[in-house]
Amino acid sequence: MSKESLDIHCEHCHSIEHFKLGPDGAQTIEQAADKHIQGKTQIQSKSIIRKHTIDKAEYGYALYTCPSCNTLYNPYTIKIEYDEIMLFQPFYKCPKCNTTLVKADEPYTSYACKHCGL
Ligand SMILES: [Zn+2]
Ligand SMILES: [Zn+2]
Repeated sequence: MSKESLDIHCEHCHSIEHFKLGPDGAQTIEQAADKHIQGKTQIQSKSIIRKHTIDKAEYGYALYTCPSCNTLYNPYTIKIEYDEIMLFQPFYKCPKCNTTLVKADEPYTSYACKHCGL
Protein backbone atom coordinates (compact mmCIF):
# COMPACT_ATOMS: atom_id res chain seq x y z
CA MET A 1 0.00 0.00 0.00
CA SER A 2 1.33 3.41 -0.89
CA LYS A 3 1.58 6.26 1.59
CA GLU A 4 -1.52 8.42 1.96
CA SER A 5 0.01 11.35 3.72
CA LEU A 6 3.27 13.00 4.52
CA ASP A 7 4.32 15.23 7.38
CA ILE A 8 7.14 17.63 6.73
CA HIS A 9 8.95 18.89 9.77
CA CYS A 10 10.68 22.29 9.65
CA GLU A 11 13.99 22.11 11.44
CA HIS A 12 14.02 25.90 11.94
CA CYS A 13 10.67 26.56 13.69
CA HIS A 14 9.69 22.91 14.35
CA SER A 15 6.27 23.31 12.79
CA ILE A 16 4.85 20.30 11.01
CA GLU A 17 3.01 20.65 7.76
CA HIS A 18 0.65 17.90 6.72
CA PHE A 19 0.25 16.87 3.08
CA LYS A 20 -2.07 14.33 1.50
CA LEU A 21 -0.92 11.83 -1.07
CA GLY A 22 -2.79 9.53 -3.43
CA PRO A 23 -6.40 9.18 -4.59
CA ASP A 24 -8.07 9.84 -1.17
CA GLY A 25 -10.83 7.29 -1.54
CA ALA A 26 -11.54 7.74 -5.23
CA GLN A 27 -11.48 4.38 -6.97
CA THR A 28 -12.19 5.57 -10.48
CA ILE A 29 -11.44 8.68 -12.47
CA GLU A 30 -15.19 9.50 -12.35
CA GLN A 31 -15.14 9.49 -8.56
CA ALA A 32 -11.97 11.58 -8.53
CA ALA A 33 -13.54 14.15 -10.85
CA ASP A 34 -16.79 14.23 -8.84
CA LYS A 35 -15.29 14.49 -5.37
CA HIS A 36 -11.94 16.16 -5.70
CA ILE A 37 -11.86 18.29 -8.81
CA GLN A 38 -13.65 21.63 -9.07
CA GLY A 39 -14.55 24.29 -11.57
CA LYS A 40 -13.51 24.28 -15.20
CA THR A 41 -11.21 21.29 -14.77
CA GLN A 42 -14.11 19.23 -13.40
CA ILE A 43 -16.36 20.14 -16.33
CA GLN A 44 -13.62 19.37 -18.85
CA SER A 45 -12.58 16.08 -17.29
CA LYS A 46 -16.17 14.83 -16.90
CA SER A 47 -16.88 15.66 -20.50
CA ILE A 48 -13.79 13.71 -21.65
CA ILE A 49 -14.79 10.72 -19.48
CA ARG A 50 -18.30 10.75 -21.00
CA LYS A 51 -17.45 11.23 -24.63
CA HIS A 52 -14.10 9.58 -25.21
CA THR A 53 -12.30 6.28 -24.85
CA ILE A 54 -10.09 6.51 -21.79
CA ASP A 55 -6.77 4.70 -22.21
CA LYS A 56 -5.17 5.60 -18.92
CA ALA A 57 -6.05 7.82 -15.99
CA GLU A 58 -3.97 8.93 -13.03
CA TYR A 59 -5.35 10.93 -10.13
CA GLY A 60 -4.55 11.84 -6.57
CA TYR A 61 -3.01 14.37 -4.23
CA ALA A 62 0.59 15.19 -5.08
CA LEU A 63 3.31 17.53 -3.92
CA TYR A 64 3.93 20.46 -6.24
CA THR A 65 6.09 23.49 -5.78
CA CYS A 66 6.15 27.05 -7.08
CA PRO A 67 9.49 27.70 -8.84
CA SER A 68 9.22 31.35 -7.93
CA CYS A 69 8.25 31.26 -4.19
CA ASN A 70 9.78 27.83 -3.48
CA THR A 71 6.65 26.88 -1.48
CA LEU A 72 5.06 23.44 -1.43
CA TYR A 73 1.45 22.95 -2.49
CA ASN A 74 -0.79 19.93 -2.40
CA PRO A 75 -3.14 19.94 -5.40
CA TYR A 76 -5.37 17.04 -6.38
CA THR A 77 -3.93 16.21 -9.78
CA ILE A 78 -5.42 14.34 -12.70
CA LYS A 79 -4.02 13.13 -15.96
CA ILE A 80 -6.18 11.45 -18.60
CA GLU A 81 -4.88 9.76 -21.74
CA TYR A 82 -7.67 9.16 -24.22
CA ASP A 83 -8.46 8.34 -27.85
CA GLU A 84 -4.97 6.83 -28.17
CA ILE A 85 -3.16 10.12 -28.72
CA MET A 86 -4.86 12.73 -26.56
CA LEU A 87 -3.69 13.94 -23.16
CA PHE A 88 -5.60 16.03 -20.64
CA GLN A 89 -3.36 17.36 -17.90
CA PRO A 90 -4.36 20.65 -16.29
CA PHE A 91 -1.80 23.10 -14.95
CA TYR A 92 -1.81 24.20 -11.33
CA LYS A 93 -1.04 27.81 -10.47
CA CYS A 94 0.57 29.27 -7.38
CA PRO A 95 -2.16 31.10 -5.39
CA LYS A 96 0.37 33.76 -4.36
CA CYS A 97 2.16 34.65 -7.60
CA ASN A 98 0.24 32.74 -10.31
CA THR A 99 3.34 30.87 -11.53
CA THR A 100 2.69 27.39 -12.92
CA LEU A 101 3.54 24.80 -10.29
CA VAL A 102 5.95 21.96 -11.01
CA LYS A 103 6.27 18.55 -9.36
CA ALA A 104 8.26 18.74 -6.15
CA ASP A 105 11.36 16.62 -5.62
CA GLU A 106 12.85 15.18 -2.47
CA PRO A 107 14.21 16.26 -0.08
CA TYR A 108 10.96 18.14 0.57
CA THR A 109 12.57 19.95 3.49
CA SER A 110 14.50 22.06 0.97
CA TYR A 111 11.32 24.06 0.22
CA ALA A 112 10.30 27.18 2.11
CA CYS A 113 8.35 26.62 5.36
CA LYS A 114 4.95 28.36 5.35
CA HIS A 115 5.40 29.37 8.99
CA CYS A 116 8.91 30.80 9.22
CA GLY A 117 9.78 31.14 5.52
CA LEU A 118 13.02 29.16 5.82
ZN1 LIG B 1 9.64 26.77 9.75
ZN1 LIG C 1 4.51 31.39 -6.22
